Amino acid sequence: MPPSRRAIRNRAVAIFGGTFDPVHYGHLRAAAEISERLKVSDFRLLPAGRPPHREGTWAEAFHRLAMLELAVAPYPDLHVDEREVRRDGPSFMVETLESVRAEVGEVPLLLCVGQDAANQLDQWHRWQDLPELAHLVVMTRPRSAPRYPASLAEVLEKRRVTRARDLMRSPAGLVCHVEVTQLEISSTDIRRQLARGWDPRFLLPATVLAYIRKHGLYGAGETNPANG
Ligand code: ATP
Repeated sequence: MPPSRRAIRNRAVAIFGGTFDPVHYGHLRAAAEISERLKVSDFRLLPAGRPPHREGTWAEAFHRLAMLELAVAPYPDLHVDEREVRRDGPSFMVETLESVRAEVGEVPLLLCVGQDAANQLDQWHRWQDLPELAHLVVMTRPRSAPRYPASLAEVLEKRRVTRARDLMRSPAGLVCHVEVTQLEISSTDIRRQLARGWDPRFLLPATVLAYIRKHGLYGAGETNPANG
């Protein structure tokens, strides 16, 4: 018997990929809002192992994973998905989604990306296969307006829905733009502050900041007077 609409609605899985170098309250607030608004039962923050679109990461994957685990520890609805970090080679989202889909079955699968990442979606490996695997949830972000190249805009527009709840009616294939609270926080800025010996407290969880200082990540020293 096919699952009832209610059953489907209660079983959405969301994937929020990033380098999380380090994770901060911009990421966490966006995750919390999407999770709540779309009634996601399983929201996964998924750190990239070796991101294909970047030179590399500042902190090693195991550190980024550990910081994410600390950040979500108090929140049982948020999880960390380790599959890209555990896999060898570059982290292609299309392969990640294939492996998640094989695991979760025909439930709505939401790929959550910030507007800045969405603008460059056509540079992702096999990007045209993504809609077969998941819905796309574009989270709007400060100073990052939609700037889709024409070929991408055409694909997204055809699939676009305005009501987030429409995503719960099918496993994949739709695109929805969802506004999240605009927190002007970036990992780049946090790394810069740490390297200068400044204190980025309140931009990220205190547990994560303590971990950064303990391991001397991003040029932060344990001897910094701001270390609590
Ligand atoms: P960096 O400054 O190193 O580029 P970042 O802060 O943008 O890092 P990423 O790990 O690259 O963080 O981002 C992962 C995802 O989180 C991306 O889709 C990005 O758009 C989104 N994101 C990052 N910062 C915010 C924020 N302040 N509010 C909402 N979404 C964010």
